[in-house]
Amino acid sequence: MFELTKQQKILRSLVREFAESELATRVLKLDEKRAFPFDIVKKLAAQGIIGMTSSKDLGGTAIGHLAGIIAIEELARVYPSIAFFLEGSQAPMYAIENFGTEKQKKTFLPPIIKGDKIICIAATEPAGGSDLASIATIAVPVKGGYVIKGRKVYITNGGVADLVAVVAKTGERAVILLVEKGTPGFTVAGRENQMGFKSVHISELTFSDCKVPAENLIGKEGAGLAIAMSSFIVARPSIGAIGLGIARGAFDIALKFAKERVLYGKPISKLQNIQFMLAEMETEIEKARWVIYYPAAALDRGSSPRDIGKYAARAKAVGAEVAAEVTKRAIQILGGCGVNPEYRLAGLLNDAMELFPASGTVEIMKVIQAREILNKVKH
Ligand SMILES: Cc1cc2nc3c(=O)[nH]c(=O)nc-3n(C[C@H](O)[C@H](O)[C@H](O)COP(=O)(O)OP(=O)(O)OC[C@H]3O[C@@H](n4cnc5c(N)ncnc54)[C@H](O)[C@@H]3O)c2cc1C
Repeated sequence: MFELTKQQKILRSLVREFAESELATRVLKLDEKRAFPFDIVKKLAAQGIIGMTSSKDLGGTAIGHLAGIIAIEELARVYPSIAFFLEGSQAPMYAIENFGTEKQKKTFLPPIIKGDKIICIAATEPAGGSDLASIATIAVPVKGGYVIKGRKVYITNGGVADLVAVVAKTGERAVILLVEKGTPGFTVAGRENQMGFKSVHISELTFSDCKVPAENLIGKEGAGLAIAMSSFIVARPSIGAIGLGIARGAFDIALKFAKERVLYGKPISKLQNIQFMLAEMETEIEKARWVIYYPAAALDRGSSPRDIGKYAARAKAVGAEVAAEVTKRAIQILGGCGVNPEYRLAGLLNDAMELFPASGTVEIMKVIQAREILNKVKH
């Protein structure tokens, strides 16, 4: 039977304690102000929560993908925005650590892991994120580097990032280039108006004749799409974990309410319908948990992103679905209080809905799974 290690169990209780003490009281205010909590990023770093899969010589803790998933789940249970901030950093950090040069790794990763700098990855464009191969942003090779021209939308952490990994085309081939904040031609054009993840800056970025040195190319010219895909695959279980955390947060709120709310002279938890809803909600959460943990555990056992493509896609889709379903039911259990923002469920449902498109839509996740399933069937 699958069991978490002692280290993973300790990590879960430490992160839970951190989330309860540092985040719980600030959620409503942060959401209301749409304010990015830089101080929390520093505290996460101090706890070793940024860079959990990064090597120790870069300042990471290297305790693994599943540990990272557990941390994200616990943070999302209390404040999904901060978990989403972490997830947004994961793909570009993975790209640099696994495909970048030694100089890129040593220059760019330690300050991110320390919480001094923030990173994002910019792939999606206004013409459609699902068709990544047809992006219009170009990187023209010039003496000593590349000149980037294009526009990116819905970029998680985009408005607060010190470093952007930009996916662009050089002719028919793609590249990923690192653009530092302050590089002439790079602008944060605006912040998207999102229904959830209120304190995360999800932004539109423009690059107009933005010149970057050749040494900012991650991997080889032409490998940009493959690197982006591998990096997105590795980050997808984290989206699933945010969904799992949201579902658990909503379940805990509903359970507490059901025990406290008295109708007909007794708590509503004595009503069979409420009991059945709680049983079904917890069943959905436990079913989702193993689907979401599986690809992260596989990475820890040495599987490559390519090996886990189907499982990572499934984890992401299941996470979005369990978050929305369980939160909707929790809202029903709370009756009128369920739609009062102070009970937090309305905010959690808004966050849950953001998970459907983020990091590839739920439909694209099903396309990926179906492709792998059908390719394995022999007729
Ligand atoms: C909260 C949030 C954070 C994000 N963060 C980032 C980020 O950090 N970096 C980044 O680059 N992008 C980011 N994105 C963008 C995200 O990756 C895209 O929204 C997503 O890939 C979908 O692209 P689109 O919105 O253009 O929808 P479209 O691609 O236009 O899709 C529209 C509809 O068509 C469906 N569809 C498309 N193709 C198919 C198909 N083959 N089969 C069936 N249905 C299909 C989709 O499922 C969807 O329902 C973020 C988005 C959100 C909402």
